[in-house]
Amino acid sequence: MTPFDRQADADPARGPMADWRLGQMVADTYQLSKLGGLLYLFGWVVIAWLGGVMAFAPVTALAAGAGFLLLGGLRLLMRPPRAANADQNRRWLLRYALVLPLASVLWSVVQAWLLVDARFDQDTRMVSLIATIGYATVFANIYSTVRHLAAVGVCVLFVPLLAVLWSDPGNRALAVAMSFYALYLAGAVVRSHAEYRRRLRLDQALREQRDLYEHLSRTDPLTGVCNRRHFTARLDLAAQRARAGGPGFTLLILDIDHFKHVNDRHGHAVGDACLKALADRMQRAFPAPGALLARLGGEEFGVLLDGDAASAAQAAEALRHDLAVNPLDADGERLRVTVSIGVGAFDARSHGDGDGLYRAVDMALYAAKAQGRNRVLPVQAAPA
Ligand code: GH3
Ligand code: MG
Ligand code: MG
Repeated sequence: MTPFDRQADADPARGPMADWRLGQMVADTYQLSKLGGLLYLFGWVVIAWLGGVMAFAPVTALAAGAGFLLLGGLRLLMRPPRAANADQNRRWLLRYALVLPLASVLWSVVQAWLLVDARFDQDTRMVSLIATIGYATVFANIYSTVRHLAAVGVCVLFVPLLAVLWSDPGNRALAVAMSFYALYLAGAVVRSHAEYRRRLRLDQALREQRDLYEHLSRTDPLTGVCNRRHFTARLDLAAQRARAGGPGFTLLILDIDHFKHVNDRHGHAVGDACLKALADRMQRAFPAPGALLARLGGEEFGVLLDGDAASAAQAAEALRHDLAVNPLDADGERLRVTVSIGVGAFDARSHGDGDGLYRAVDMALYAAKAQGRNRVLPVQAAPA
């Protein structure tokens, strides 16, 4: 487990949410830091110009500039992988965490050079000191996404600076001030990371709630299959697609025969259990992704099926037979129920839209009831 995992995992169990947090850390880290490398280049250009470095150390000045440009460009180019899985994200963060502090290391070396080389004047040193404080502050606050990275960045920028300042008795006051500031930055690293974690947890809680409400809004609470609202929307969509030249589909409506007797004889609770057991049986008979099952209301179920009416009628007949032969287990109560089923394939010319197909299949179901129940009846073909 890498440090990034520990930070992404609020709970020990790995899962989609921990993976989501890791992906979010990756995206945030890149967004916050992608231009940061070029800030060092800008700082170096200002200092080199102020200190007149080109006059006495042109090669070093250009080499440092090229270094900042290279590291800034590299950081910009290291885009996170799109739609990455957790492993890819973990690998990217590790690579990025190796590249990110390199610009700070280079800056720290340059800063130490400025402080020990007598050719730099006090003004230039002061500007570079202020820039270092700025970079370290940015590091502490911006890299709140990955605490270790923030801590490494601040240390890399500050430790050599403090070492140089403390080694010169003439700089004691500055050394004390900078040491206090370093302590403040250590606190800032901890605080900004805690704030980032809080935000991430809040985002995650909102996402979970949104997903839950979305799920509830399309689910039938008793059986756990889709509800009528979602089913109707999917039926309309399938009809629209079919009209536009998309794949054909079939609608099936099933109603339990004499379900009232089940309630009257065994009670409402067993009736509920019977509906659940039927939904389970239907889910096995019409598995996703080729089928969408819904409870349309009461003891009536609908199925949207890929494919033609003949194969749908065959599957419906197999289910009808299975139910007639094998009783449902309703909370320990074995109930033999029969069902009537209407079946029809969408035909844009005769049905027009999803609602038209629904009415046609409902009529077929009504006819199945009228003909004695416990049967599958296809929609009658429209006269040519
Ligand atoms: P048919 O063969 O004509 O369909 O007869 P039926 O008795 O199944 O149909 P009817 O429409 O007369 O009665 C449906 C019954 O379904 C009445 C109602 O008590 C019962 N019912 C509807 N929703 C629920 C439910 O959520 N739970 C339970 N236990 N019963 C329900
Ligand atoms: Mg019924
Ligand atoms: Mg009914």
